[in-house]
Amino acid sequence: MLLVLTAALTGGPDALLARERAAGAQPAPVPAQWLPGGDPRSSERPAAIGPGEPEQGGVPEEGEPVAEVRALWGDGLDVVRGERSLVAGHDAPPGLLEDLARRADTAGRRVGGVLGGPVRAVVLVPASAAEAAGLAGVASVDGLAAVADDGRVIVVPEQFARLTPVGRDVVLAHELTHVAAGTEGLPVWLYEGFADYVAYRDAGLPARTAAAELAAEVRAGRLPGGLPEAADFAPGADAGRLARAYQEAWLACRFLAAHLGEETLVRLYRDAQTYGADRALASLGLPTGTLTERWRAYVRDQLA
Ligand SMILES: [Zn+2]
Repeated sequence: MLLVLTAALTGGPDALLARERAAGAQPAPVPAQWLPGGDPRSSERPAAIGPGEPEQGGVPEEGEPVAEVRALWGDGLDVVRGERSLVAGHDAPPGLLEDLARRADTAGRRVGGVLGGPVRAVVLVPASAAEAAGLAGVASVDGLAAVADDGRVIVVPEQFARLTPVGRDVVLAHELTHVAAGTEGLPVWLYEGFADYVAYRDAGLPARTAAAELAAEVRAGRLPGGLPEAADFAPGADAGRLARAYQEAWLACRFLAAHLGEETLVRLYRDAQTYGADRALASLGLPTGTLTERWRAYVRDQLA
């Protein structure tokens, strides 16, 4: 699973690849307990509270969980609370954790605004990419800006620092969407597209900017033939193809929201987790073949 950050987010000419949690990654043993409502490892949606349910627990309190991270990070641990977020850093530069707490609050409002309930963010800021990899339980986070893992967002400090302010907000909202909405049982295009739908919804980036690589293809007369497959999101060979896969998925969810309404998109996401995407789409009168044709027309219309 890769999140491709285009020049629009990094402010530079190079596409930055942000690999998310590697398949089969083991959850890190550290501050899982920081999430309200108990051990997040027992739930796919630890940070989300469903529509209509009262907010519970407030921002996680200091105590046992912080004591655990202190055992790992020692005197280098700093904890900053936002209104609805908790940010813990290890030897973080001055101001970074406060900035992240504000951005995590914003991300939580954006994600909660779409999902229909309060969402709190737990953000960990290790001292280095190597430490981030250790927390996420993966061999490497090279090229990653942040990782969604086991109920928290782990920032990769070196790459995150390269992002523009808009890019930071987009990355946090994208990762927090994965944490809050879950990805289990869904096709990759749906959960990556949904995360980007939420992340870009209030970012103020024109579609042709956010989907620059795909727009170039469309202007050259090449429309995607079908929704991106899981293999299109695999890291490696073709950075341009990878960027377009995310952009295609984003526009599929953006089309669904424009066509059916955002609440129906969210319901589709939930139904797809329960019944499978094909069945959930068919129940909305958009079997995959019909969706594909209408999405292709939408891509051309938005990007040509
Ligand atoms: Zn993602």
